[in-house]
Amino acid sequence: MTGRLVISIDAELGWGNLKWHISGYRNNLRRVPEVTDQLLELFQQHAVCSTWAIVSGMTFEDATSLRDFIVEVNHVVTSPTLQYVIYDGKYDPKCFFMPGLVHKLKIQPNVEIASHTFTHFECGKSGQDLERFKEELRLSEVWERSNDLKCTSMVFPSNRWHARHIRELKNWNFQQFRGNPASWAKDANRMSQRIFRFADSLINLSGHPIKESPGHVPISNIAATRFLPATSRFALLNSLRIRRIVDGMRNAAESGTIYHLWFHPHNLAGSQSGRLDLVRAVIEAFCELRQRHGMESVTMRDAAERLRSDCTVSPC
Ligand SMILES: [Zn+2]
Repeated sequence: MTGRLVISIDAELGWGNLKWHISGYRNNLRRVPEVTDQLLELFQQHAVCSTWAIVSGMTFEDATSLRDFIVEVNHVVTSPTLQYVIYDGKYDPKCFFMPGLVHKLKIQPNVEIASHTFTHFECGKSGQDLERFKEELRLSEVWERSNDLKCTSMVFPSNRWHARHIRELKNWNFQQFRGNPASWAKDANRMSQRIFRFADSLINLSGHPIKESPGHVPISNIAATRFLPATSRFALLNSLRIRRIVDGMRNAAESGTIYHLWFHPHNLAGSQSGRLDLVRAVIEAFCELRQRHGMESVTMRDAAERLRSDCTVSPC
């Protein structure tokens, strides 16, 4: 198999955390449209594919149009985020709505639109049970139909999911999801493991990803390899992070595995100059690997299709 680079982007504005828009982080949220344009231009310049996992709720014109939709589809509002956005919110709409995003993504080449659920639903969080997850999927399906879309890739908010959620996705014709890295420090929030993850983002502590196989899950797992953080004020941190990512991509190119990088646009929307420098450095390194080793840039959907066809040719 050829080595492949997958880039997935979690687009959610303030839906990911209600505290963001009342803190200093609000300015990052307001700059997301500008960063989105810059990213799309960068990807297009280098013929790089990207998968944009979007919270459907953020694509409405405003709270009124979202509320009309909710009433029309007979949805009973239980999500505190949705409740806040459509009924209680005294907030800057630019922190929650980005109308035009779907159109912007649809007209770009090499872009896949994926789901990040309708309301940034965090599976397994208090009150967020399987029945509510099914209702999220129903809402998303109606929204997709009204936007002439069919998402087949799921990126679970906060990377929280269980096998029952994966089985449910299959019922709604999803074909692939983004799983978590295989490192031992992937799920826990304990301080020691957070320190490990930070150190691992700078130097190779957890090794490189092993060759993927669809295995026996009902849909394909295009597991994340690494989170791409914002450009730091400290040049040394930036150069260590870039070296770690480029080493991993090189390993994927040479060993025929998938390297899956992910981030949020708001992570890159700080006010400092050169905020896209890390992304640009990764893309330039990828272009060299593409030339030297034939590494490919693919979306999550393409990566899963290729994995399934590779497996048909040589049984996994
Ligand atoms: Zn998210």
